[in-house]
Amino acid sequence: MQNLLESLGIQEINYGATTGASNGWRKTEADQIESISPIDGKPIARVIQATVHDYEAIMQQASESFEKWRMMPAPQRGQVVREMGEQLRKYKEPLGRLVTLEMGKIIAEGFGEVQEMIDMADFCVGQSRQLYGLTMSSERPEHRMYEQWHPLGQIGIITAFNFPVAVWSWNALLAAVCGNVCIWKPSSHTPLTAIAVQNIIAPVIDRYQINGVFNLVIGSSKDVGNTMVNDPRMHLISATGSTAMGRRIGPVVAERFGKSLLELGGNNAIIVSEDANIDLAVRAITFGAVGTAGQRCTSTRRIIVHRSIKQKITDTLIKAYSQIQIGDPRENRILMGPLVDENAVNTMMAAIQTAQEQGARLLYGGHRVQPISGGFYVEPTIMEAQCQYEIIKEETFAPILYILEYETIQEAIQLQNNVPQGLSSSIFTESMRNMETFLSARGSDCGIANVNIGTSGAEIGGAFGGEKETGGGREAGSDAWKIYMRRQTCTINWSKNLPLAQGITFD
Ligand code: NAD
Repeated sequence: MQNLLESLGIQEINYGATTGASNGWRKTEADQIESISPIDGKPIARVIQATVHDYEAIMQQASESFEKWRMMPAPQRGQVVREMGEQLRKYKEPLGRLVTLEMGKIIAEGFGEVQEMIDMADFCVGQSRQLYGLTMSSERPEHRMYEQWHPLGQIGIITAFNFPVAVWSWNALLAAVCGNVCIWKPSSHTPLTAIAVQNIIAPVIDRYQINGVFNLVIGSSKDVGNTMVNDPRMHLISATGSTAMGRRIGPVVAERFGKSLLELGGNNAIIVSEDANIDLAVRAITFGAVGTAGQRCTSTRRIIVHRSIKQKITDTLIKAYSQIQIGDPRENRILMGPLVDENAVNTMMAAIQTAQEQGARLLYGGHRVQPISGGFYVEPTIMEAQCQYEIIKEETFAPILYILEYETIQEAIQLQNNVPQGLSSSIFTESMRNMETFLSARGSDCGIANVNIGTSGAEIGGAFGGEKETGGGREAGSDAWKIYMRRQTCTINWSKNLPLAQGITFD
């Protein structure tokens, strides 16, 4: 472990704020936090958190840097991001290992998370040459009308523990090619991976002398988080986390007419129709429900199965679940690591109890796995449920899968949509009519709708995010870059007259 930490510049005690350059670390002075590995419940290292005063200093540097950064041509900003991507390639292995150590996801997913950052860097390099505006036909003679996009300024990035580094890259790399500067506040569960990312990109920041463009502030949500959200200099707050967090910060940002991009909780379902390829469906459900120990926003939490195949799916799933190896996520044979902490284990056990009280039947799992070397391990759990149980409308951030049954495709879609969240959804079917119904305007109400693949594991090329209580934000691909920019509509009169629109005369 020591070698791993050293290779990423992590000390026993670390400062918690930087403006990005290798000499940009501030001597922070707030309370220390300990990063605990969910693998064994033992401390990895400590971080001295930032005070509000540290935040202020970082914000000042960021604001100053914006003046220069916004005038650098976007393709040159893309070149900076390209070199960051190269650094991430170099450090993929240790950073992936640290993600696993600090967050607890299995090692293949730890590497996958860093790969996603690399992919995002590549995507942003291309995007830096494609910040397109439209040209419109003016109704007035010898006038030209077009729109252009300018950077917003300072962007606050608040991230959740479960994707401790990839979510930063979705936001920061895209926001940066758009000409913005970023201040990142990571989850207090995963401060070390954030420090490691800053150390990895620091040589690029030094080379281009762009101290203040990529900033980090590790601090409590009460002090630093709150200050960020309330700060009128923070033009956009991109916040990933629970719906409860979004509910707290959304109104605060709206009150000051700031922009927000909210990526909140999901409650994702897979519909399995009577004609589905059951082998594919079971593999997708198992990965979706058990992968990352059920701690993905896109984890499969409900399956809605046609009555005629419910028993078959249930039996096949139970068989698949019984083969899952639970344990130290650093070992290659392990498919499910721990939950993030003791609290998450207790929340899962309480949800199982509530579900049973509401009438759900426990079909598999349901227990804590006796601490493997002190970590927070649980059994993946399957429960038979009905749509009227309130518990199935909640996102319990743990591997609990509820099985519901349906008769008609309309009923299946209604069951799927009948939750407050709207992130990811899938259908397994070989029927064109079922598929198109699911994808139609009266189909899935989620931000992501898949056919014959599961709910989790989105690619960066599409815009990622969800509707309803998931917050409505979109990140990563497609035209998600527009949220980081302001649109300006420009009309140029190159005639010698002053015609007014709508034919109005004012002589
Ligand atoms: P969380 O809500 O506890 O914390 C998320 C982040 O918000 C942390 O950095 C936290 O410090 C910060 N925060 C909380 N209150 C704040 C406040 N008042 N002001 C400023 N910052 C504040 O979430 P978590 O437990 O870290 O992550 C799990 C949740 O995140 C799940 O609900 C999951 O679905 C969601 N999530 C959503 C997406 C998505 O893209 N939709 C992606 C990953 C995770």
